[in-house]
Amino acid sequence: MIKNVLIANRGEIALRVIRACHELGLRATAIYSTADRDAAHVAQADDAICIGPASAARSYLNKEAILQAAHITGADAVHPGYGFLSENAAFARMVVERGLVFVGPPADVIDTMGDKLAAKRAMIESGVPCVPGTEDALPDDPEAIRSLAEQVGYPVLIKAAAGGGGRGMRVVEKPEDLIEAASLTRTEAGQAFANPDIYIEKFMATPRHVEIQVLCDNYGNAIWLGERDCSMQRRHQKVLEEAPAPFIARHLIAEVAERAVAACKLIGYRGVGTFEFLYQDGHFYFIEMNTRLQVEHPVTELVTGVDLVQAQLRVAQGETLWLRQSDVDLRGVAIECRLNAEDPVTFAASPGTVTTWCPAGGPGIRVDSHMRAGDAVSPYYDSMIGKLIAYAPTRDEAIRRMLRAVRETRVEGVSTNLTLHEQILLNDGFVSGTFDIHAIGKSIKVEPDV
Ligand code: ADP
Repeated sequence: MIKNVLIANRGEIALRVIRACHELGLRATAIYSTADRDAAHVAQADDAICIGPASAARSYLNKEAILQAAHITGADAVHPGYGFLSENAAFARMVVERGLVFVGPPADVIDTMGDKLAAKRAMIESGVPCVPGTEDALPDDPEAIRSLAEQVGYPVLIKAAAGGGGRGMRVVEKPEDLIEAASLTRTEAGQAFANPDIYIEKFMATPRHVEIQVLCDNYGNAIWLGERDCSMQRRHQKVLEEAPAPFIARHLIAEVAERAVAACKLIGYRGVGTFEFLYQDGHFYFIEMNTRLQVEHPVTELVTGVDLVQAQLRVAQGETLWLRQSDVDLRGVAIECRLNAEDPVTFAASPGTVTTWCPAGGPGIRVDSHMRAGDAVSPYYDSMIGKLIAYAPTRDEAIRRMLRAVRETRVEGVSTNLTLHEQILLNDGFVSGTFDIHAIGKSIKVEPDV
């Protein structure tokens, strides 16, 4: 049984995991960089240990320092949160080799799913529909690349097999641009992800991003916990998410979700995970699997009533899945707005000190944030300062509630993207369900103040 969980992360997700530990009666151990000495996650943990300087490479990404911290504090499990080392198979392997529980899937599964091409092949084997494209890494020969792109059909997307966070992708509209785009993406992928493999996918014109949440135990039991729509994106990064995915027939979602569950059994998945799909013209196309907790997990928690972080910890300590598929009942609608410290027009990060932090409250509002007035938004880390989550019986009510919460929230000292959220929630296309992943920037824009 797990008694003491070291949380290998910072910010709101570290706090979220600490809360789950405390509700399960577990000890929570925090790690922090020198920049986070006074952070909320450090204050709320039962124990905390400094693991290095502000730079993430020397602290939150420093595997050896984190494992030493686990040893010193007597932790028996490591929860990686999201980002940082959460999808790092080498880290998961090291955790297990030191005799600790890694709160996540087996390292081999992270390896397979972390390589988007290997993941795609595994999905094809399980009968999960994928975006049309190449199934192997592109060869070097330009002629061969040209002919593969012709077969897929323009416009195409060149993707890095090891890409993530919306990086390592390039759209190519016409054949003359193909070879240069391929070679640029290959070079960038080699530098950013230490893996130069690239592949081609059909670039879909008007898809929505719909993802399926799964939960699996160690014994081959797997279920899905509804889906989320994350079509509201900027530069391939999610901004606002909701559950369930509106205006899609339930039987279509159930069909693809059951394939995802079958794939989990085939690959020996454990813990929570997300299958990401593009949805267009009544069809789903797999793009990738995330082998970790997602930023947007709260919307699923609200519509299913399942605490996903507690569920992660319970299956990690060897509990048999306590839910059957028939126990999963989706109720109501939840929307999450990611609050970023960034310029509302240019989207440039806006680090600084938060002088006023007054998030919304009241009926149906959940705020997951590590911010307190006086806290700094550090230029070293992600600019997300919190998540506003609204829950209501219907989508119209959830939208109105979220709008109320966005307007109620006051943040001073740094710029935020609150106005972008307001524009999304007021947008006719968003409200009526006629949106796709390109909506932000096309029909939803924030104009500079004059
Ligand atoms: P990452 O791992 O960087 O998050 P994904 O493969 O999940 O990359 O893609 C991120 C986003 O990029 C998707 O949600 C979608 O908006 C866009 N995208 C990915 N593949 C395609 C595609 N084939 N056609 C159009 N848009 C795509």
